[in-house]
Amino acid sequence: MSKTEVALVRTQEQPSEQQIEAAVRKAVELAGGLAGIAARGKTVIIKPNLVAPKPPESGATTSPIICRVVADMVREGGGRPIIAESSFVGLDTEEAIRMAGYDRLRAEGYEVVNLKQKGTELVTVPVPHGVALKEVSLPRLVVEADAIVSVPKMKTHDQAGVTLSIKNMKGVLPDAWKRKFHHTYGVFQSTADLLTVVKPSFAVVDGIVAMQGLGPAFGEALEMNLIVAGRDVVAVDAVTSAVMGFDLHECGCIREAAQRSLGVGDLSEIEVVGDTIGNVQHRFKRSEEAITEAIPFPPGLNIVVGDKTCSGCRNQILSTLFDLKEANLLEKTAGWTVVCGKAESLPEVSRDRLLLVGNCLARFRKEACFVQGCPPNSRDVIRGFGLTQSIGMVDVDAIENEESRRT
Ligand code: SF4
Repeated sequence: MSKTEVALVRTQEQPSEQQIEAAVRKAVELAGGLAGIAARGKTVIIKPNLVAPKPPESGATTSPIICRVVADMVREGGGRPIIAESSFVGLDTEEAIRMAGYDRLRAEGYEVVNLKQKGTELVTVPVPHGVALKEVSLPRLVVEADAIVSVPKMKTHDQAGVTLSIKNMKGVLPDAWKRKFHHTYGVFQSTADLLTVVKPSFAVVDGIVAMQGLGPAFGEALEMNLIVAGRDVVAVDAVTSAVMGFDLHECGCIREAAQRSLGVGDLSEIEVVGDTIGNVQHRFKRSEEAITEAIPFPPGLNIVVGDKTCSGCRNQILSTLFDLKEANLLEKTAGWTVVCGKAESLPEVSRDRLLLVGNCLARFRKEACFVQGCPPNSRDVIRGFGLTQSIGMVDVDAIENEESRRT
């Protein structure tokens, strides 16, 4: 029996748009092409990763060049490409579309759909082979598409090890279901369940500028100059994570999908065409390695993250700490314990330096300083620390004035 093929194509450093286009076309063709996927009259959803309003050069979001080339290939096959995305819980997808340069594609006549926009029709679909899910709510546009091409960014992820073409599919969910995946069902099993109902027929990974460390949004950009492509999304993710220096046991979403035979996760059963893993491999810094470098925690600052916390609160806390660090105010968090996500009880620490972040902890609201929101905004988290002014774009003077008034 022939092996599943995954294509690895390297570009030169800092490739031009034409060089990226050539690499995408070569990788797609090496991996078997879009025949049967992009056929006449078929609607093909192209799903980038626009997790947050950040440019592709940050390493956080898929380059519009890559989605444009995939869309062109779909059109060349006679299909109708639709680029569709819904960003992080609580974030504005329209802003993410603009920041990542997809508004240019719109201006050129490509369909770019914000799946969070008002009026997006949702349908509840059964998940007959679900382990965690029995049903899930999805945009009708995605459910009724003839095919899906996942076009993720090559990134580390603070919970899942990496986020690639499988994890990328969580971005088609409405926010309420994104939260449920984390705090009710568990992200590895529910993401594998999702794959059983909206399985991409092809994946093209943007590894031109990747992200290591504090992925999926706050990591460090890393030039890899790579495109990875294939028809088996599990195999594509297994090869890409190996390129990033990860073992499958570190990557919960890929491992779960492979264990359930939703694709091939065993590298010995995959034929890598184009370049080789060994030639392009680079060990990515893990999220947990980066966190202590990026945010020098002052003495006594502890972040307690429940097992089922979704990315919303975790990333809001990290984002707030980054802002405070930039404003040289990080030491104001010394001695605080910050809790987020579902919790059965509170840690045994002094209540006057205990900060509860997010509505998941609302039942404890009378027991410590509680910051409401799902997720809360940065200004309110900062207020929770006793800093009463906005630091959205780091309003340092206001904060320091406030501090000096109090001392
Ligand atoms: S409160 Fe925070 S952890 Fe809980 S569901 Fe909302 S964003 Fe997620």
